[in-house]
Amino acid sequence: MAKIPYKTYLTEEEMPKQWYNIRADMKEQHDPLLNPGTLQPLATEDLYPVFCEELCKQEMDSTTRYIDIPEQILDYYKTFRPSPLIRAYHLEKALGTPAKIYFKFEGNNTSGSHKLNAAAAMAYYAKEQGLKSLTTETGAGQWGTALSMACAYFGLDLTVFMVKVSFNQKPFRKAVMETYGAKIIPSPSDTTQVGRAMLANDPNTGGSLGCAISEAIELSMGDDNCRYALGSVLNQVLLHQSIIGLESKIAMEKLGEYPDVVIGCAGGGSNLGGLMSAFMQDKLTGKSNARFIAVEPASCPSMTRGKYAYDFCDTGKITPLARMYTLGSDFMPSPNHAGGLRYHGMSPILSKLYHDKYLEAISVDQNKVFDAATMFCKLEQILPAPESSHAIYGAIQEALKCKETGEAKTILFGLTGTGYFDMPAYMQYNEGKMTDYIPTDADLQRGFDGLPKVD
Ligand SMILES: *Cc1c(COP(=O)(O)O)cnc(C)c1O
Repeated sequence: MAKIPYKTYLTEEEMPKQWYNIRADMKEQHDPLLNPGTLQPLATEDLYPVFCEELCKQEMDSTTRYIDIPEQILDYYKTFRPSPLIRAYHLEKALGTPAKIYFKFEGNNTSGSHKLNAAAAMAYYAKEQGLKSLTTETGAGQWGTALSMACAYFGLDLTVFMVKVSFNQKPFRKAVMETYGAKIIPSPSDTTQVGRAMLANDPNTGGSLGCAISEAIELSMGDDNCRYALGSVLNQVLLHQSIIGLESKIAMEKLGEYPDVVIGCAGGGSNLGGLMSAFMQDKLTGKSNARFIAVEPASCPSMTRGKYAYDFCDTGKITPLARMYTLGSDFMPSPNHAGGLRYHGMSPILSKLYHDKYLEAISVDQNKVFDAATMFCKLEQILPAPESSHAIYGAIQEALKCKETGEAKTILFGLTGTGYFDMPAYMQYNEGKMTDYIPTDADLQRGFDGLPKVD
């Protein structure tokens, strides 16, 4: 058999023209979103004040299996897609594993992550609806950058609430977003009620994603020409990210390959959901028995130590309630957690698949994540984002198991992005100053105590 190439790209003609909606193949659906006031299931129209209408429809659609990607989004995708499927030959050799390791690299765009796949759709549909602006939050900065890029391309204004610790740590992220024309506000801020309340409660708070979400939603609710956009967790985001797995599947088919294990890092679930959906379809329909593994930080372990419960999606408790694995919307990861994957909850779709045992989850502390990151960057030459490095860690663990058992499994993992803006974290690690703080059960209990009482 011909040696498999290091990189496999699809041609423009081979690129998927439709997104895949995994809910159409799930045996059971996740529980419905609830109105936080009445605790009744939400109707699609209830979401119209927050998201643009087409996205609300996608959010609630559990039956349409394939959804056409609009022509203008396909054109936009061509500026940064297809992304390569790469065979990690150098990593395999260094590990001495019989396993074949592939990764799908989503970091080849200025945002440095997969988030542009969903940002494109949000900006496009907002423009189609005749809206003037979007607002959002960003933690590590990739989502804010991605939406800045897409808003610049489709012609929309954008306000980004950036979690204050990241705002202070990553001035260059802010500069990139501003270059694309976005307005950046550190969160919590005094521009919203939620922000002012957070500041009154703790003036020195570094902020959280949940709080920045509340601020962005508050801003959008006060302006009829503005809607809110969220870069993870939501069903619509998993739909848009399905392009990652669809492309991977076509590329692997071209190589005569199919993964035994699919691995992704898990913050809110968008990249893993996107990478695994096309393969999970085969598992749900009995065509394959691949394993799926989510890798999350030990400092923010929503799946491995969270509760499967209804919770708010934000700290300000203004969003609908979603049933998901959660640490409680009041949970804040320790400040020494080096960025990314800080969200308290997990995509309801992934939560349901995890609950129903289609998906596994592991957690890892950050020194081990950076061990994996530095090993990977020396061998495969890409400087990975700390978030992505959780998946690298997971892939290495699986490859080492194969070394023990002698099995030549095919491993596929998602390399979601590059880490150029994460150098403070790399510096800490390089200087031996990175610490691990793993929350105690008592720390987690405080988050669980704040869960809304739904039954
Ligand atoms: C946002 C982000 C993640 C985590 O978010 P998910 O929604 O879980 O995918 C992972 N990697 C990178 C590079 C990111 O920007």
